[in-house]
Order: sequence, then structure tokens, then C-alpha cells
Amino acid sequence: MPAVTRRSFLKATAAGGGAAGLSALGFDLAQAAQVTQHFKISGAQESHSVCPYCAVGCSLVAYTQQNSDGSRRIVQIEGNPDSPVNEGRLCPKGATAMQLATSARRVDSPLYRAAGSDRWQQISWSQMLDKLAQRIKDTRDATFVATDAGGNTVNRTEGMAFAGGAAFSSEEGYLATKLMRGLGLVHLEQQARV
Ligand code: SF4
Repeated sequence: MPAVTRRSFLKATAAGGGAAGLSALGFDLAQAAQVTQHFKISGAQESHSVCPYCAVGCSLVAYTQQNSDGSRRIVQIEGNPDSPVNEGRLCPKGATAMQLATSARRVDSPLYRAAGSDRWQQISWSQMLDKLAQRIKDTRDATFVATDAGGNTVNRTEGMAFAGGAAFSSEEGYLATKLMRGLGLVHLEQQARV
């Protein structure tokens, strides 16, 4: 008898003769259909993504359903069983990926707390980027070292450091390194759990 793999079993049962085959194996299909109608992912659209938290790069499946106004809401995110990286599993951090999109505590616009203030204020991305650019320039101007104590040319910025995110692609890492080295940074780090 030829070996039956998971894929060939699903293919055979899905191809018309499946219902009869499953019934013959003792599955109560009417009851199963009734139960699955109440699954929260019943009728949901399936989209594939990658966990953003670390460089392991586990595959995710996100299930979304349409709201009455046409927008979509996420109803479930779980590990992708077809991924050779995680085979459907997620670590505790990845298993909470849904909260990235749905948590009421999610911060979705820049918050700024002025020096000496005890409160955060919402500002625009444009205002925040201007602030960051100005601070980078001020810090670089104030801490740039052209020559060291021995008279050697070093051209380095000692007042800033850079930490890359572990979900960086190779290209993002390359770009960030080029930019930071261009500013004269010496202290570059990478938060990778591999
Ligand atoms: S190990 Fe955890 S944090 Fe890293 S990619 Fe996989 S699920 Fe995400």
C-alpha cells in the first residue's frame, strides 16, 4: 500500500470523493460542518505574513473578516503550519502578534514629552521627524571628534549610538549602517536573537 502523506490525504479528501472517504473513516461530516460554522475564522480571508519581533522570521497566518462598512478586522493570527521555519509554532511573543494591531494600548502616532513636562502630547510625524533630525544634527555638531589625542584623523561622532531592530532585512541593515557610518557613528549594535 502506498504511503499516505498529510498532503495527499487532504488532496484526496478534498477532490470530490473526499466526503465519502471521510464518512467511511467514521467522521460525522454533518456534525463537523455545524461545528465549524461557529469557528471565529469561519469564512475569514487568510493572509500570510512574518512575525516582526525577531530574526527567526516565523511565518504567520492572519485571518480577517469584513465589517459592514467594508473595512476588515483581524479575528485571529497564528503560526503557519506550512512554514519550514516554525511549522505552525510561535514563541509567546509571536503568539501575541494580534495585539500589535488590536490592543487598545497601541500607540499609533508620535508622542512628545517636552523637557520638564509631566505629560505627553500628540504631535504629527512631520513635527517628530523635524525634532529628531535637529537633535541628531545638534548632537553630532557637539560631539564630533576630528582628531584624537595622538593627532590622528578619526572623524567620528561619539555622542550617539545606533541599535537596529532584529526584524531588519539585510537591505535595511545595510542602509542603516551606511547612514550611521556616514554620520560618523562608531557604536552600532543589532538586537538579534540568533
Ligand atoms: S521566535 Fe518568536 S519572536 Fe521570533 S520570529 Fe518566531 S514567533 Fe516571532
